[in-house]
Amino acid sequence: MNHEPSACNLLIVDDDEAIGSTLLAILRKSGYHGSWVSTGRSAIGFARDYEGSGHRLNLALIDLRLPDMSGLEVLREIKKMHPDVGAIMMTGFADVTTAVGALNEGAFAYIQKPYNIDEVKVTMERALERQSLLWENRALLGRLREANADLINTIDNLQEMDKVRSEFVHIVSHEMRSPLTVIIGYSEMLLENRTHMTEDRIQKSLESISCDGHRLTRLTEDLLNLAKSQEKKFAVSPVKLDLKQVAAKVIEDFKVLNTRMAFELAFEEGAGEVVSDRDRIEQVLVNLVGNAIKYSPPDGKVLIAARKDGSNTRVSVTDQGPGITESEQSKIFEAFYRIQADIDKKTKGTGLGLTITKAIVESLGGKISVASGPGGKGSSFNFVIPGLSS
Ligand code: ADP
Repeated sequence: MNHEPSACNLLIVDDDEAIGSTLLAILRKSGYHGSWVSTGRSAIGFARDYEGSGHRLNLALIDLRLPDMSGLEVLREIKKMHPDVGAIMMTGFADVTTAVGALNEGAFAYIQKPYNIDEVKVTMERALERQSLLWENRALLGRLREANADLINTIDNLQEMDKVRSEFVHIVSHEMRSPLTVIIGYSEMLLENRTHMTEDRIQKSLESISCDGHRLTRLTEDLLNLAKSQEKKFAVSPVKLDLKQVAAKVIEDFKVLNTRMAFELAFEEGAGEVVSDRDRIEQVLVNLVGNAIKYSPPDGKVLIAARKDGSNTRVSVTDQGPGITESEQSKIFEAFYRIQADIDKKTKGTGLGLTITKAIVESLGGKISVASGPGGKGSSFNFVIPGLSS
């Protein structure tokens, strides 16, 4: 902040030319920049022009008695345009009460005529000092407000993270508790009553233990993948590959387990040639085809299609399942989100598969979205594998 005289814009308003011009000449010698006007109207016009050109008026020496209006009115008008102006009222002996009133209107000081030039200079310097303090305070206050807003933002984020963390712990422990209850329950039963149990019951108990053991393994794998995706730790090694071959292999693996389900590949000419990470692409297709099977009637059809779009490749996995409503479409990619109907049907799932799939597609530089077929029937998951030039 500079309150050196030379950096100051000064206006002297006095109808007495002898005072106005002499004062200006003396002050200019001391390094002040300024102008002198003899009427209230021209003072206001000067202040307006100044404001219009983007300057601020630092100092105004205003005579209380002007021919066309009172100095007090001039002060009010100038203050509207230059609220921080250091205004010094010049007053005759008879006007002291009015001058004191001017202080209440925001004038910095008043000086009685005949003035002493040194007193004028000292008062002007003090006015400038106060002005720069005012600006410094304002800047500090602004920074304080910004810091405060940042702090509030950080606290909000921390609270949000804490909420997500406790939700996560809650959901994970809930997801683990039910298979663990089954495993512990059956194994204790076997340990204590094995000799009194039929072969059939023993077999069923062991199957339940194995099934829930696998469920825990799936959950653990999903959680590990989720952690990797959140830390952006998916290692990606792009190679030239035949996407159609990868899709065919995924289908073959699923066919063994799902004999009633029909599978179809529809690849446009050349659409299978991509440069991407084979394992990641396979993981994406396994997740999407796995869901297509899980959420469709057992004798439905799953279609994997691909076409070129410029240098990109667009892949879709379409099923004949119940479809996904528009309001659910944005949520199913969130961690742990499952459609209520599927929770009610007790379809196995963690609600993490699509979160991981989305993270993988994004780590490959692509995007994933979902749409439902006509009448809301069937779901189509679409993802883009970017070409080399994009
Ligand atoms: P999970 O299958 O383990 O529950 P996902 O993240 O893979 O978790 O899917 C989230 C939810 O989205 C599922 O629980 C299901 O409600 C819904 N969903 C996913 N894929 C399909 C699909 N192909 N058809 C209908 N609903 C689906």
